[in-house]
Amino acid sequence: MDPVVGDLEQGDVLVEGTTISEIGASLDVQADDVIDATGMIVMPGMIDTHSHLWHAPLRGASAGFWGFQEYLDFFVFPIRPRGRAVDVYAGTYVGAREFIANGVTTAVDFCHPLMTKDTADAAVRGLKQSGLRAIWAYSSSGSQGPDERFDELFAYAPRLLEEHFGDPDSLVSMGIALTGHITAQASEENRREVEFARSHGLQMVTHSNSVNHVQSFYDMGLLGSDIIFAHANLVSDVELDLMAKTGAVLSTSMQVEQSLGYSVTALSRAVAAGVRTTNSIDSLTMVNPDLLGEARATYNVTRAQDGQRERDEGRLPLYRREHMPFLTSRDVLALITSEAARALGMWDSIGSLAPGKQADIVLLSTGPFGRGVGDAAVHVVTQAHAGNVDTVLIAGTVHKRGGLPVGSDPEGVYELNMAARDHYLEGLRSTLPSIARPGGTAVLGDRATFER
Ligand SMILES: [Zn+2]
Repeated sequence: MDPVVGDLEQGDVLVEGTTISEIGASLDVQADDVIDATGMIVMPGMIDTHSHLWHAPLRGASAGFWGFQEYLDFFVFPIRPRGRAVDVYAGTYVGAREFIANGVTTAVDFCHPLMTKDTADAAVRGLKQSGLRAIWAYSSSGSQGPDERFDELFAYAPRLLEEHFGDPDSLVSMGIALTGHITAQASEENRREVEFARSHGLQMVTHSNSVNHVQSFYDMGLLGSDIIFAHANLVSDVELDLMAKTGAVLSTSMQVEQSLGYSVTALSRAVAAGVRTTNSIDSLTMVNPDLLGEARATYNVTRAQDGQRERDEGRLPLYRREHMPFLTSRDVLALITSEAARALGMWDSIGSLAPGKQADIVLLSTGPFGRGVGDAAVHVVTQAHAGNVDTVLIAGTVHKRGGLPVGSDPEGVYELNMAARDHYLEGLRSTLPSIARPGGTAVLGDRATFER
């Protein structure tokens, strides 16, 4: 994935401290520790540009929802106000550890339970303890929308920045999750958030679920390369040109968008327009944080779109012509590595394996069934899965080795995560059965079942 180093059929990577110091076909060095990667694919750690780690206690709870409104009405609105500091702490920690186990080494954590200063502190604590490299994006959204309690919640932001993010060497930096609503356009609240973020150099991320959302940011003079637009399935070609012109980023959560029945992804259109484009998991309540699976979904869905376009334009049967199919495996792999690093302004330090970069490294096992034919990127996108993630390093620290987690978790944190599930479900039980329909999804762990 690195344009200078290129791909080595076989090689060694030397890590010193937090960084990669050398890469070569055969390095002649004495190392304190040697990780044998024979038969494995060595790749940069994967990068997710929009997810909600605090959702971890409720994994699967939103699976089978149909349409974004069900997700809002029966999950987001009832659940967000219920997160106590301990729930948000445990969820964030456990969610981050699952990301790491799956080979994700950097994430943008869109943190939007209904905040108190305590829940915000707890989220940051969980994230820092996890070892994940992350941008912790703070949300000032009220429980029902952007205009409720904004002033009070937004006032925490400078304090949080000062108290938690003074160390430039920390793996966790602060970002801003722009407040919004399903039908919202850019607002005066957004203007204040953007001004605050830009005055401190903070990354921003926003949900983009409505027509003309990007245009409204442009009209207010807010569009810029430091804003990630998550989803943006309804973005127009004119808006994509505005994003390309300003450097604004698209983050597509292919699996979540498809499962909720969103309009079909704008990803290929965005790439064609020159928009910086990335992938993300979004909510752990719908899919697990397997970015390899997300990349594969992206690969397949964009090819399905390509085929549909060819048929719509009368080119049948399908035949290969220039730029068709539009995205290769390597293009898709870039969405979760190099392109994502560039989108976050972190290309100098992550997103590829190169001397001087941070040692965020994933080893993918290919055994016992063997590596696929051809380009390693083809294998990674079409054959590999999270179960192949053998070893994970973040900033030189080994977090997973031989397929097993390394290091000890804070005592009782997984029990706290299950206790958080119970606490959230107390609030869900009164509402979830009301959406049950024949053929709907089924079971919330072993705690509750939809009525049919
Ligand atoms: Zn989201």
